[in-house]
Amino acid sequence: MSPLDIVRIPVLHDNYVWLVHDSDSKATMVVDPAVAEPVLEAAAARGWTITDIWNTHWHPDHTGGNAAIKEATGCTITGPAAEYERIPTLDVRVTGGDRVRLGAHVAEVWDVPAHTAGHIAYHFAADDAIFVGDTIFAMGCGRLFEGTAEQMFANMRRFDALGDATRVYCAHEYTLSNARFAVTVDPGNAALTERLAAVEAARAAGEPTVPTSIGAERATNPFLRAATAAELGRIRTLKDAA
Ligand SMILES: [Zn+2]
Repeated sequence: MSPLDIVRIPVLHDNYVWLVHDSDSKATMVVDPAVAEPVLEAAAARGWTITDIWNTHWHPDHTGGNAAIKEATGCTITGPAAEYERIPTLDVRVTGGDRVRLGAHVAEVWDVPAHTAGHIAYHFAADDAIFVGDTIFAMGCGRLFEGTAEQMFANMRRFDALGDATRVYCAHEYTLSNARFAVTVDPGNAALTERLAAVEAARAAGEPTVPTSIGAERATNPFLRAATAAELGRIRTLKDAA
């Protein structure tokens, strides 16, 4: 089995759409297309035809390109069963424990509610990759729009059980703002201070900072490192006000 080709497509102000290609089967999947045109262009430039869209949650900056990509390619759209009424283009409804496939590559669906009530993630265990939408970011986590700190804390425990090498594909370039906030709540963390400096240099050079990894987040992410749901909630409240 060939490794997945994973392409980052920056769109809108700070969104990342992930284009994922399996060279064995020629299947090509898009995670959370905020818009259609740049995604169709990125696929065409590589000679790939989009066969699938996988959505993590209903927010328009994750689903806005669904209809036009489906219109152009006839692809199948998979997404959270709990949010099907808010994603009218959905073909296949999935929920935690379901398995979805891109060629021979298998992803397990995780229920990770909190940012939205039905938010899901897609974990390719054999590929050491997880597509997390707006659940965990580099040194950050998603806002708790439709859920609780207890739910996000439970999500973090699941991420914390993954191996260091697992690549984390989040949907936004929020890293610099997250890092600057994180050092204020964890000022004694040398790994975090170092990472802030590296991120400042990368962003100054116009370079992306994701995907991240579980190992990097375990060392520096205050939401993953929070010892209790109450602590996570307190940090989230501070970040919302920052
Ligand atoms: Zn969102």
